[in-house]
Amino acid sequence: MSPGEFRRLEDEISAFVEGRAEEIAAALEEGETDSGEVREELRRRGYLNLAAPRELGGAGVPFSRYVELVELFGRTHGTIRTIVHVANGIWRAVDGRATGEQRERFVRPLVAGEVTAAFTMSEPDSGAGADLKTSVRRDGEVYLLSGEKHMITFGLTADYLLTFARLEGTAGAEGTVALMVPRDTPGVEARPMPPAMGLRGTDYARVSFRGVPIPLENRLGEEGEGLAVAFEGFLAPSRIAVAASCVGLAERALELAVDHARGRVTFGRPLAARQAVQHTLAEMATEIEAARHLVRWAASRWETGEGGLVASSKAKLFATGMLQRVTDGALQVHGGVGYFASPIERIYRDARVQRFEEGTAEVQKALIARELLGKEGS
Ligand SMILES: Cc1cc2nc3c(=O)[nH]c(=O)nc-3n(C[C@H](O)[C@H](O)[C@H](O)COP(=O)(O)OP(=O)(O)OC[C@H]3O[C@@H](n4cnc5c(N)ncnc54)[C@H](O)[C@@H]3O)c2cc1C
Repeated sequence: MSPGEFRRLEDEISAFVEGRAEEIAAALEEGETDSGEVREELRRRGYLNLAAPRELGGAGVPFSRYVELVELFGRTHGTIRTIVHVANGIWRAVDGRATGEQRERFVRPLVAGEVTAAFTMSEPDSGAGADLKTSVRRDGEVYLLSGEKHMITFGLTADYLLTFARLEGTAGAEGTVALMVPRDTPGVEARPMPPAMGLRGTDYARVSFRGVPIPLENRLGEEGEGLAVAFEGFLAPSRIAVAASCVGLAERALELAVDHARGRVTFGRPLAARQAVQHTLAEMATEIEAARHLVRWAASRWETGEGGLVASSKAKLFATGMLQRVTDGALQVHGGVGYFASPIERIYRDARVQRFEEGTAEVQKALIARELLGKEGS
C-alpha cells in the first residue's frame, strides 16, 4: 500500500469514527442494533480485511501501519473495535499451520468476511493454555469432542469455533489440538453469558461440546500443536493491537476530560484554570504518548522478527495500565455527572475489558520476567 493510499484510508476511517460510528455507538447502547448488523456494515466498508495480505484477499496494510488504524477504531464503541480486532486477527491463527486446502476452505472465506470464527480457549474449570481440559477421542475419521468453554466472544453467532482441546489422557501442551468446529454441528450447545459490564451489543457464549464429531481434516497443524496454533504468530500481534486500541480509547477519554474542564465552572472559574486539574490532564497526555510509542516499537519489533513476543507483552502491560489510569482520571475530572450514562461513563465501562483480553497483566509480567530470568523465572 502506497503512503498516499494509506493516508486516504486513514482519513476515511477518521471520518467514520467521528461520524457514523457515533450513531452506531448510540444504537448499540440502546439495544437498537447488534454486532451482526454492525459487522455487515464494517465488512461493506472494507474494515475487516485490512491486515491480511493481498495474496489472501486482504488490503495488505503492513502491521506497523495497521496499529495506527486500530488506534482510530479504539476511539469508538468497544463493540466496533472488537469486531475489527477479531476479524483482522483471527485469520492469522487459522493460517499459521493451515494446509493449502485449509487455506482455501477457511482462511480466504474468513478474510473475505464470508464466514466468521470465534477464538474458543477459556474454560470454567481450568486455566487458559496448557491446563485446558476439553478433550478429543479419535474415532475413525473423526474426533469426538467433549468439554466446556466460556466467555467466548461471538460464540453465539460465529460460523466456526476455533477450539483448543487435548487428546484424551494427555497433559500439558503435549497432545493439544486446534480444531475448526462448525458451530451448527450436532452436540454443540452455545448459550449466552450473563450481560457484560461494557461492550454492549457483543455476544458472549458458554459452549458445551458433547461427543461432537469433527472431521480430522478440520484439525489445524499436527496433534500436539494445538497451543502453537493458539499462541505462535497470532498472540503477539493480537496483544499489540489490543494495546493500540487502549491508546485510542484513552485519547478519546482525555479529549472529553479537556472539553469538560474548559466548560465546567466552579467557584467562578473553569476547572481548566485549576492547577490540580491541569496536572491530571498533563499526566494523562504524557502516559498516552508513552504507550503510543511503546505500541509502535513493539509493532516494528514484531514485523522485523526481533523479539516481538516479549515486546508485545510490555506494550500490552503498559497500555492497559495506562488506559485504566487515564479513564479513571477522566471520570474524576467530570465529577459525579460522569458516573451517569454519558460518553465518559461508557468509555470507563468499556475500558475494563482490555485488561482481560490476550492475557492479564499478571500473565504479561510472568512472560517478561521469564525473559529476564530464564529458567529461574518459570
Ligand atoms: C469480555 C471478555 C471476552 C472474552 N473473550 C474470550 C474469547 O473470545 N475466547 C476465550 O478463549 N476467552 C475469552 N475471554 C476470557 C479471557 O481470555 C480470560 O478472562 C483471561 O484470559 C483471564 O483468564 P480467567 O478469566 O480464566 O482468569 P483466571 O485464570 O481465573 O485468573 C483470575 C486472576 O488470577 C490471576 N492468575 C491466574 N493464574 C495465575 C498464576 N498462575 N499466577 C499469577 N496470577 C494468576 C489472573 O491474572 C487473574 O487476575 C474473555 C473475557 C472477557 C472478560
